[in-house]
Amino acid sequence: TRDWQGKRVTVAGLGVSGIPAARVLHGLGAIVTVVNDGDDERAKAQAAELEAAGITVRLGDGATLPAGTELIVTAPGWKPDKPLFAAAAEAGVEIWGDVELAWRLRGPGAAPWLAVTGTNGKTTTVRMLASILEAAGLRTAAVGNIGVSLLDAVLGDETYDVLAVELSSYQLHWAPSLRAHSAVVLNLAPDHLDWHGSMEAYAADKGRIYEGNTVACVYNVADPATEDLVREADVEEGCRAIGFTLGTPGPSQLGVVDGILVDRAFVENRQKQAQELAEVSDVNPPAPHNIANALAAAALARAYGVEPAAVRDGLRAFRPDAHRIEYVDEVDGVAYVDDSKATNTHATEASLASYDPIVWIAGGLAKGATFDDLVEKSAKRLRGVVLIGADRALIAEALTRHAPEVPVVDLDRTDTGAMSAAVREAARLARPGDTVLLAPACASMDMFVNYNKRGEAFADAVRALAAERA
Ligand code: ADP
Repeated sequence: TRDWQGKRVTVAGLGVSGIPAARVLHGLGAIVTVVNDGDDERAKAQAAELEAAGITVRLGDGATLPAGTELIVTAPGWKPDKPLFAAAAEAGVEIWGDVELAWRLRGPGAAPWLAVTGTNGKTTTVRMLASILEAAGLRTAAVGNIGVSLLDAVLGDETYDVLAVELSSYQLHWAPSLRAHSAVVLNLAPDHLDWHGSMEAYAADKGRIYEGNTVACVYNVADPATEDLVREADVEEGCRAIGFTLGTPGPSQLGVVDGILVDRAFVENRQKQAQELAEVSDVNPPAPHNIANALAAAALARAYGVEPAAVRDGLRAFRPDAHRIEYVDEVDGVAYVDDSKATNTHATEASLASYDPIVWIAGGLAKGATFDDLVEKSAKRLRGVVLIGADRALIAEALTRHAPEVPVVDLDRTDTGAMSAAVREAARLARPGDTVLLAPACASMDMFVNYNKRGEAFADAVRALAAERA
């Protein structure tokens, strides 16, 4: 273990990962300086609290490397091309993210990690996995952007047998020494390209999750890029590549046969061709992309040695989180569905594929994405489209190119009240039997604090409409 006493550590970024990191490092005896770009009221209040605890905070200057810095612990969202990191590289200072910090601070005999990344489905898969592990009687937690924080899971009083860990591409970028027991890349589609710089760089960061795996690298048979990442990874001897597919599984794969989730990868009884795990109807909801998530979770659980019955019980006990293809209400024969969590085109494609006909509410921050593919694939299902948010013109242009006959209402608004106007416009376009689907294909921060608030605004607007029509 590293001796932290008197070590000069710079924490980059106040916020959900920076504040606890600063406190933990200070508690270990490190001399901590927090640097932060912003200096608004909230930052000032947070800084005051940290300074009261003896931690130095520099607001409004996230670019200058404090003198004598021996290590940087960065918030995962900080872009690699920031001047602070150039200064660090020049000075030969190591950079860790929040995940790297948690990984390095975990104690001897700590719980192994079953790790999940991918463009979409991470949270769902991690929750399914935790549910399965719990059903197997294991002490576990869903860790990452949801539930328990990584630092708490590693340093808290609770002891765990095994952790189900969600990892973003940013976190993986800053986690060079992480070594999971087993891991999965669920899928790979363009997202966050403005941060990573290119699809290649994004894929390489996701692929880091397989490095040093000891038991299984799980990939998506339908997404060959994930299998490529397994092939390129440097893993421990004996670590296996395990595929999951919605079709009939080959050897070393999990898949679906006649409505049953089956495992051909971890079959103990050599006489047996395949182990039955659960029925498709045990998956909630049993939409194709979600069955894929269930198979990925099952693969990781089986890699850890979980029995088939626990896979079934864990999937049955699983309940999806809010704002993920969540049914809100029916008004005048039209169903209203909140998939605010569809923050990129890949997720939106899965959700548009689940309904027909659709009045689609979309728009927000595009994060460097293009919409031609998505619109082309979904055009036939669209009754109409309502656009909101900063980058709506990009979607409008794709609609002009690939769905010129579909009516589009461009609201030209980015205020929070725009959601209620959007729901009203959608109600006008919809006919009985249609689904009005909020699946923005964009991030929410141009209009809302986060996707939760966006989904709540949608649900509130739907409830208001229902109350009027009642
Ligand atoms: P993440 O944590 O990766 O953002 P979530 O489980 O929160 O993933 O789901 C995010 C969005 O992606 C939701 O809108 C959901 O409908 C969609 N989604 C979930 N799983 C998949 C998948 N395997 N493929 C494509 N889209 C998915």
